[in-house]
Amino acid sequence: MKKPLSVEEYLDRTDDYLRISSFFALHAAQLTPLRALAREVAELTEQTGAFIQAHTAVVCPSCAKVCCATRHSYHEVADIIYLCALGEAIPVYEKGRAGSDPCQFMGERGCLIARSLRPYRCNWYFCTPLLEHMQSLSARRYRRFMEMTTELGRKREALLDIYRETEKE
Ligand code: SF4
Ligand code: SF4
Repeated sequence: MKKPLSVEEYLDRTDDYLRISSFFALHAAQLTPLRALAREVAELTEQTGAFIQAHTAVVCPSCAKVCCATRHSYHEVADIIYLCALGEAIPVYEKGRAGSDPCQFMGERGCLIARSLRPYRCNWYFCTPLLEHMQSLSARRYRRFMEMTTELGRKREALLDIYRETEKE
C-alpha cells in the first residue's frame, strides 16, 4: 500500500484560499489600498524578473540539481493574500506528488506560472552560482536590481500589514 503523504509533502492551500478570498469579498472597501499595492508589487516583480531571467538563462541550463521541486511550489498564506489582492486564485495543485518530485509547473522553457503570481520563495531564491553570476556583470545594474527588490519587499510588507490590521478589527 502506498504510504500517505506527510503534511510537508502536500500542503493543500484550498481552505486558506477560500477563507482569504471570502474576507476580501466581505471587506472590499477597506482593502482597496491593498489592491493598489499588490499591482505595484506585481509590476516590480515582472520588472526585476527581466534581470533575473537574463541570468537564469545562462546559469540554469547546465544545473545538475534543479531547485524547482514540488515542496517549493505551494503558495504560503502571505502569497495567497497577495494573489487575492490581485483578484487571482491559487493554481490547481496535483495531489500525490512527493515533496522532492519535480515541480508540476516546470515547463520546457521554465516556470509556467507568470512570475508575479509564483510563490514568493520561488522568485527570491538564488543559489550561489546564480547569485555570483548576477553580481559579476554590472555593479550598477545589480545595485538597481537590489533597490527595486527592497522597494518591492516594503510594498509587500505594507500590503500584508493592512490585511492583518483589517483582520484584527
Ligand atoms: S537557480 Fe540554481 S539551483 Fe535552481 S535551477 Fe538555476 S542553477 Fe539550478
Ligand atoms: S518557480 Fe515555478 S516551477 Fe519552480 S518551484 Fe516555483 S512554481 Fe515550481
